[in-house]
Amino acid sequence: MTAASASLIQQLQPRIVETRARLQAAAQTVSAEYVNDLLAEIDAALERINAGSFGNCEVCHLPIEADRLRQNPLERFCLDHLNEAQRRAHERDLELATQIQSQLLPASDITSRNWSAHYRYQPAGVVGGDYCEIVPSADGASVFFALGDVTGKGVAASLLMTHLNAIFRSLLSLDLPLAEMMLRANRLFCESTPATHSATLVAGRTTASGVELCNAGHCRPLVLRHDEIERIDSTGLPLGLFCGSRYTVRHIALDLRCSLVLYSDGITEAQDPEGNPFEEDRLSASLRGQAKAGAIAMADSVLRDVARFRRAAPQQDDITLLILWRHC
Ligand SMILES: [Zn+2]
Repeated sequence: MTAASASLIQQLQPRIVETRARLQAAAQTVSAEYVNDLLAEIDAALERINAGSFGNCEVCHLPIEADRLRQNPLERFCLDHLNEAQRRAHERDLELATQIQSQLLPASDITSRNWSAHYRYQPAGVVGGDYCEIVPSADGASVFFALGDVTGKGVAASLLMTHLNAIFRSLLSLDLPLAEMMLRANRLFCESTPATHSATLVAGRTTASGVELCNAGHCRPLVLRHDEIERIDSTGLPLGLFCGSRYTVRHIALDLRCSLVLYSDGITEAQDPEGNPFEEDRLSASLRGQAKAGAIAMADSVLRDVARFRRAAPQQDDITLLILWRHC
């Protein structure tokens, strides 16, 4: 049985062949012995593709985890059958990835002139593929915020999240209008990631009377005005789908003690043991109950309700929740 799917092999085979060509080109400058060892490893992988055994663990013959194969197409063992040294190296890599990711996340509570922002980030694995950002402007007059979800899970998704983070941080220093920033972020993401990857995202900025908001194919943000809830539809395509995408910006008025709630589908698609999804209505109900109590109480309420709903069912996807609350 071939463990890796035909489409995965189709993605990986050209990469393996290209790596081989690059190695051969480097052979003049790197020790011949070292290059020959690597070439032998590459040729063995190409042979496994021909023989139909590519993607099978050499010990148990079961499929190697697809995200690990994508990271390293020369991988020969499943996680269970790495030797002790390889396993320790793998664990150190994951620890480092977790550390890097946690350093990229904003402080969990940020207060500016009129706003408090609070978020929760619960990856399904050791690292997450959700993107979350809160950055007050240098003069304190506004707050930029974003919440996104990149395709895929695990380490590969977390690398894309890191990439998205770097793109927005560099664009923020240019102080662009929101629509222009989204247009450029999309182009940069499109040109620098594989065509198979994209990211849904909501980004916005606070204004004197509310927020301006751009939704690139992400779950609908919720606006809570006392007892009333408004859902904000998407206005653009996910980032990375089409290089020339344009984005429209909506202005949303928000008065004192009103809030804007952004979230990832890890919340609305969380499942109970019977496979029913949590859905937007339960999220709205959960927020409404705590709307007057502020951002932290609202976040506590949602995560408690999601956990209660899931009962013993495992968390399938990354969960991120960002609440912006107007406090004066
Ligand atoms: Zn194995």
